[in-house]
Amino acid sequence: MSVDASRLLAWYDERKRDLPWRRTPIDPYRVWISEIMLQQTRVDTVIGYYERFLARFPTVNALANARLDDVLALWSGLGYYARARNLHRAAQRIRDEHAGRFPDDANAVRALPGIGDYTAGAVLSIAFGRREALVDGNVIRVLARVRALAGNPKESRLKNACWDLARALVPAKRPGDFNQALMELGATVCTPRSPRCGECPISRACSAREQGRAEEIPATPPKAKRPHRRVDCAVIARGDRVLLVRRPDEGLLGGLWELPSAPKRGRGGATLPEAIADALGLAVSVGRRAASVEHAFSHFDLTLDAFACEASGEVRDAAGLWVARENLAAYGMGAAMRRVLEISASGGNRAKRACRREKHALISASGGNRAKRACRREKHALISASAPSSPRREARPSKGTSRSRRRPPASGKRRPRTAARRLRRPRSSP
Ligand code: SF4
Repeated sequence: MSVDASRLLAWYDERKRDLPWRRTPIDPYRVWISEIMLQQTRVDTVIGYYERFLARFPTVNALANARLDDVLALWSGLGYYARARNLHRAAQRIRDEHAGRFPDDANAVRALPGIGDYTAGAVLSIAFGRREALVDGNVIRVLARVRALAGNPKESRLKNACWDLARALVPAKRPGDFNQALMELGATVCTPRSPRCGECPISRACSAREQGRAEEIPATPPKAKRPHRRVDCAVIARGDRVLLVRRPDEGLLGGLWELPSAPKRGRGGATLPEAIADALGLAVSVGRRAASVEHAFSHFDLTLDAFACEASGEVRDAAGLWVARENLAAYGMGAAMRRVLEISASGGNRAKRACRREKHALISASGGNRAKRACRREKHALISASAPSSPRREARPSKGTSRSRRRPPASGKRRPRTAARRLRRPRSSP
């Protein structure tokens, strides 16, 4: 049985979530921005970013005429920064080659930087009513179940089969709503675990439901082992200003600002002072650890340790920039670096709040134990940063620990082994 587009559209009209980019009148620029932001990112995370971005850059020309730094600053924390660089480049192409109007020609849309088949299908169908299909992770899940297609959703065989099916299904009438309805169904009803087939408007056409295999399809891709990278960075302050450097334009976090950094010294690698001397011409002595942050990227985990450093000499060839702390928000930065700066600038309650935010973010992203370990590590780094001369306070148990454990141990008794005692002592050099 074929998918009944009219049933799916009726369900969508009644049940769709009220999202800012769905409000009328539909504007291709807004559809484009939302579709780029939604790639690899959850809807509830995107909403705030989308609204701030549109308030600052309400038109293609406003985005095209903005400085890349301002675009990256607004994108900070959203991740996958190549998306922001491509948006900026594409906006400039639209300004220069299409008089500032988003093109409605499929070839012209696909020629824009950062626009692939999915985004082209989304903008052309939603904003221009073109009969174009799209396939994302949600659509793959729905269509694979509808046709009981075996295979791994990361592999091209299943993806291509879903593209073929999506192209065959998309109707000439309301193609944009049909595409959005398929995605909405995957996000809210045909979920990876426990799909609610009883509420599904296309259940009659679904082979996986009929075979009782909905949860098995599509196959779960095998989990790759995630590498763990460790990076040291230097908080070099002069007065209320802190030294930042800019990453190369291409590659991970391309074009963003950060504290001078170096991979934690491995065999034969440069130390943090050596890397800073080489890149900036500054002689640096490394002091106490000021912050430690764990961060999960899409393909690896990062531990970022920041050390308070003293530097002598002048920065060579404008390789770095002294930025007042109060102006840091205007500089595009990755989330981990932003947190390191927040933590290193604060102590006590602000630090604890940052720790709680980190813990909650990690709990939602990954799971309890990792979050707790990261929180302990960050909290004690913070405490040691704010009260370096009081080791007894460093070992003070956190809220919720029993009173008896807070008392100093009687002479000769073993002190309780706390997370703070397990930490390495602050180092004089990495
Ligand atoms: S019937 Fe169930 S498995 Fe099939 S598309 Fe609907 S929700 Fe998904």
